[in-house]
Amino acid sequence: MGKSISFDIAALILLVILLISLFARKMTDGISNRLFMIIVAVSIVATCFDIASVALDNAHGGNESLLYTMNVGYLMTHYLSAPLHFLFVISLTDTWHKLRRHIGLQFVMLLPLLVTEAAFVANAGNGLMFSVANGYERGPMFWLIYVTTIFYIVYDAIYIFIYRKTMSCRKILAISAVIPIGLMAMVVQMIFPAFLVEMFFGAVSLLIVSISIQRPEDYIDSFTKLMKYSAYASDLRRDFYNEKHVTVIMLNIGNYQTIQQMLGFDSATKLLMEIADKIRGVNKRMHGYAEMYYLDNCRFRMVFYGRNRARAQEIAEALNEELKRETDFNGLNISLMPYIVLADCPEEITSFRMLMSFGADFHTRYPYTGRIMRAGEVIDQRKMSIRDNIDAIIDRALEQKSFEVFYQPIYSVAQNRFVSAEALIRLNDPEYGFISPEELIVAAEQNGTIHRIGEYVFETVCRFISGDDFKKLGLDYIEVNLSVAQIMNGDLPENYLKIMERYNVAPDKINLEITETAAAYAQKVMADNLEKLTKAGIKFSLDDYGTGYSNMQRVIQLPLKIIKLDKSFVSEGNTQKVWIFLKNTVKMLKDMDMEIVVEGVETQEMLDAFSDMQCDFIQGYFFSKPIPQKEFVAFISNANNG
Ligand code: C2E
Ligand code: MG
Ligand code: MG
Repeated sequence: MGKSISFDIAALILLVILLISLFARKMTDGISNRLFMIIVAVSIVATCFDIASVALDNAHGGNESLLYTMNVGYLMTHYLSAPLHFLFVISLTDTWHKLRRHIGLQFVMLLPLLVTEAAFVANAGNGLMFSVANGYERGPMFWLIYVTTIFYIVYDAIYIFIYRKTMSCRKILAISAVIPIGLMAMVVQMIFPAFLVEMFFGAVSLLIVSISIQRPEDYIDSFTKLMKYSAYASDLRRDFYNEKHVTVIMLNIGNYQTIQQMLGFDSATKLLMEIADKIRGVNKRMHGYAEMYYLDNCRFRMVFYGRNRARAQEIAEALNEELKRETDFNGLNISLMPYIVLADCPEEITSFRMLMSFGADFHTRYPYTGRIMRAGEVIDQRKMSIRDNIDAIIDRALEQKSFEVFYQPIYSVAQNRFVSAEALIRLNDPEYGFISPEELIVAAEQNGTIHRIGEYVFETVCRFISGDDFKKLGLDYIEVNLSVAQIMNGDLPENYLKIMERYNVAPDKINLEITETAAAYAQKVMADNLEKLTKAGIKFSLDDYGTGYSNMQRVIQLPLKIIKLDKSFVSEGNTQKVWIFLKNTVKMLKDMDMEIVVEGVETQEMLDAFSDMQCDFIQGYFFSKPIPQKEFVAFISNANNG
């Protein structure tokens, strides 16, 4: 029976369409795109050879040397695809530089290919691979082809596994798909030699790769035509993993949001495109050869590799000059605030996470100077490192129970004694030492551990309240902080009430603090939580009053009894205007029948001033810093009895 070429024809059509689409989608630049095109092209040639040789073979008695040429052409091109695929994997993982160092490894990788191709050349004399004398017939050494292919499939699998961290899951799946598909094709073709499915299966696996990874819309921002955030993240993650040295220009336009509000979306987008053009222009004019990215919110990145890294500084300067210049835009005089940070990685920024978290908001953390900043000079390594490892730090602290709860006394002006205290978390990490609660809480909110931490603090406080020491102190209640994420958690009332029950703590001994920003959220869950806990007899304070832009209308509707004036607000009370403002704020709150705690009172003058204003409670370093439970007990016993 003759062989069927229908599968080959289908493969050919598929491959040609694929090749055309690569050009149409402009997936032609860069080494991995080019390799992919070569693979498709080689497959097309192999398929043509296959069709021709089968057609000749089926015709019987044709020209023997032509038949031989077609067959050898087919085999030599077709079996190139496995090593080519392997090269494609190397380029996707961007590990050429690693391979270059290992001559031995290069040789091992090339060896199977060289042996097989040599065997094909020698086949003309010895016929060990195949012969065409009596139609196409496999020779005794034909298995060599399979061995070679299996070699490269194994190389592929091992390589993908070793460098899996350099690629996204989808990429790994797409490039690994070729392995089972290829094996399946080999098996089918071995069992049914009449069905030439190998090329077709090969074409399908290339299609899978193309559909899932060669997608420009995934990588190119449609406005700026620069590569997107996802591309930046995956490229830089890979570079850090591969220990590749790169220099990054990070450009965040500090006042873009304001400009956007002023110009409106369409014009702001046009401005964005102009900035992108300027970046491209500088890169081209100064031969930077940088990879350029647009992330979001007017944040741009230029990444320099190899010898081009030396040019990054000059390019950053040029870019800065160009962007700082006032531009006339839609009749408005716009001046941008380009914050530029130059970072050598991994020397100055040591990890991918650090790069991303520093890059997200450095423009909000430093005053605008108009000069280029060096990452090494502005980054607080300890802080960044804490940010970087916060998950592990929190896990470790929870595991080793190394969180502590400190108490800061709160003084009642009317009663002239200490009546309560605020519980504040403390962490002394074995590696980083003391870590500020603000850093901790923000990170814990992001990784979801805040609920465990919150319950830990609350339980510690309840245990303290239920003990004998506390009863002797005669305090009214302890204030415990709730973060935004906690107050949005529907399980909060039940969990907290359970803990109180376990320690037999009366609800009037607890006062929960919610921040002004949390209170400003119009959230049903929060309102429900407040209601449930209030019904159970727990009171609430509004913390950090004067720091946020709260929706006062919403805030005053909440069941809040105590308002805590924020310490920043308090410490600014030294100018006449702020003082008048403070006085009137206090008066307004008193008229609303609120009780007032003044936070951050550090001096006798401040104490006197706020006492005169009829503020009810005072908290601050003037009396005491937050102190451990034992010290706190001693402090209160002394002070209240003395
Ligand atoms: P907060 O609730 O506003 O706590 C008051 C902060 O002001 C405390 O900072 C306290 O040490 C500090 N402070 C008190 N008096 C003075 C003073 O006279 N001068 C100055 N300069 N500072 C003073 P701390 O302990 O660093 O806590 C910072 C923030 O972290 C807290 O602000 C609170 O929002 C959060 N936090 C602390 N512990 C917890 C907790 O257990 N749970 C939650 N969710 N948040 C917590
Ligand atoms: Mg507080
Ligand atoms: Mg506060």
